[in-house]
Amino acid sequence: MSELKLCQGSRCHTYTTKDRLKGSKDNKTFQTRRRSSMYYGSGNFCSMNCYNDWAETFIDRAVDHFGRLTEPKHLTEDNAWRKQYDWHGGSDDRTHLYYFINEITKERRTITEEQYDDRSYTLNTN
Ligand SMILES: [Zn+2]
Repeated sequence: MSELKLCQGSRCHTYTTKDRLKGSKDNKTFQTRRRSSMYYGSGNFCSMNCYNDWAETFIDRAVDHFGRLTEPKHLTEDNAWRKQYDWHGGSDDRTHLYYFINEITKERRTITEEQYDDRSYTLNTN
């Protein structure tokens, strides 16, 4: 069995739902949810509420910590590659045709399905 993770929501324990009420008979308290998997915020939060609570509390510090933008970014030929796919083939033999398209130059470069699925695979240089 996989290990239970705690919801990282800063106020998870303050929502008085039945499933959060834990403990022995005379000593029950509302507690932070524990789950084997969670769907929000890259698996760190049990609900959008908890995700938003965390963001409200910590987002300014998180943005400052990882680097607040001080100037606008620019889309250029070097970072305008975007992955796309088209349907390809007849009705009985449908496959995808995967490619990069450059949003500035409109150049297309065919890639494999594995390259399409690999989230770290990019042609963008900045
Ligand atoms: Zn939560």
